[in-house]
Amino acid sequence: MDATHVDDDLVHILFTEAQIQDRLGEMAKEIAADYEGKDLLLVGILRGAVMVMADLSRAMPRHVEMDWMAISSYGSGTKSSGVVRLLKDLDTDITDRNVLIVDEIVDTGLTLSWLVNSLGSRRAASVEIATLLRKPEALTMPVEPKYVGWDIPNEFVVGYGLDYREKYRNLRDIGTLAPHVYS
Ligand code: IMP
Ligand code: MG
Repeated sequence: MDATHVDDDLVHILFTEAQIQDRLGEMAKEIAADYEGKDLLLVGILRGAVMVMADLSRAMPRHVEMDWMAISSYGSGTKSSGVVRLLKDLDTDITDRNVLIVDEIVDTGLTLSWLVNSLGSRRAASVEIATLLRKPEALTMPVEPKYVGWDIPNEFVVGYGLDYREKYRNLRDIGTLAPHVYS
């Protein structure tokens, strides 16, 4: 759906569908150059990273493998619960593999710092992070994504995989959610 289908739920649109595709194309080129001659396993974090994974992987000018993990840290509102739970593990053995975690947003960094530690103990050749968005002001854990689409202010955003109570994930653009929706 488009922003016109959610009435006045958005304060403003941060990134349009076209801007997102352009940026993912640039990131894909950079990633392909960095991993030239190496195998690459993309690990998407369900459910938010589905759109990023679909578009980033198709923008890659090379073979990649894909696997998925599901982790919960958020509860159902707009604030992190602070507790990380593994809901679905990888199907792939990542020993000696080059793992690139694909996520849609780094907020506090809690989820990804936990994940990088967890994957790091499995003898992967490398573990890096690609995220479409990052909120530098919200970061409380030492997470350093190698590839970042954009840094954004510390506001709650929805669309392109990002949800509020499981809604707005199928919005084509990314926008700031109006406070009247969640207050
Ligand atoms: P963390 O705080 O970095 O661990 O972020 C955990 C997860 O919270 C992210 O992967 C998103 O699924 C979700 N999240 C964080 N910020 C937002 C937001 O602004 N909108 C929607 N989901 C968010
Ligand atoms: Mg997520």
